[in-house]
Amino acid sequence: MPIESTTILPHLFFILLGLVIGSFLNVCVARLPQDESIVLPSSHCPNCGEAIKPYDNIPVISYLLLGGKCRSCKRAISWQYPAVEALTAATFWATFALVGFQLKTLVLLVFFSAIIVLIFIDLNLRILPDVITLPGTLMGLLFSLLAPVEDGTANFIATVAGFPAGPPRLLSFFDSLIGALFCGGFLWVVAEAYFRIRKIEGLGFGDIKLMGMVGAFLGLRLALLTIMLGSFMGAVIGLAYIKFAGKDGQYELPFGSFLGIAAILAALRGAQVIGQYTNLFRAF
Ligand SMILES: [Zn+2]
Repeated sequence: MPIESTTILPHLFFILLGLVIGSFLNVCVARLPQDESIVLPSSHCPNCGEAIKPYDNIPVISYLLLGGKCRSCKRAISWQYPAVEALTAATFWATFALVGFQLKTLVLLVFFSAIIVLIFIDLNLRILPDVITLPGTLMGLLFSLLAPVEDGTANFIATVAGFPAGPPRLLSFFDSLIGALFCGGFLWVVAEAYFRIRKIEGLGFGDIKLMGMVGAFLGLRLALLTIMLGSFMGAVIGLAYIKFAGKDGQYELPFGSFLGIAAILAALRGAQVIGQYTNLFRAF
């Protein structure tokens, strides 16, 4: 019988890992859009420029101890720093709790880290930098050779076309490739149509490249679920925000942020959702 501490320890480990990685992701959110180095210089207050002491740089805890203010100039520290750290910790923990510890877990943690950076950069600046989405898509394609994407579309196409069953790694790679190309392509068509009808850009190329990355990591079905869920959240939460915060119709929603949250949910719970949906139809 395992003693209690051995079952709690891995959970604590993933929460702590998430807090530490989240602290690093904050640096990426602040510096990547400016093409600044994410390694040097060390963290400093964006207001007074004072270097942040190691004991004031403990994820979430320092923010609470300092009362959300810089120690030297007392200017408020953005709520985003602890939010990014807490979200990363929650996501890392959920990944371990739902997926366990396997190669797929590591692939998902890399994917989620990139997604969290994109969620907050889009929220701040309404951009999704190529410096994350393009290498991210390439990583998704490469990782599909390590941990199976398990989408099934490649196998389906091979069966319909009468090809002999390929090795699992190859099928996984094609699932990743189909996800990237089809989701990126699908959103591109939507973006073009929207632009021609409304004469304003509703969907940026950043969103399209983001979905290429999501498709590469998750495969076609989960990526399509991401688009549906992200659009739904964008419509409901975004329009409610426009209404209650008194923004006008020209207010630009951070659609990439919604897609990012949807991608995390789809990656962790999407397979079950699709499974139940399919069963519902089988029942009739
Ligand atoms: Zn300061």
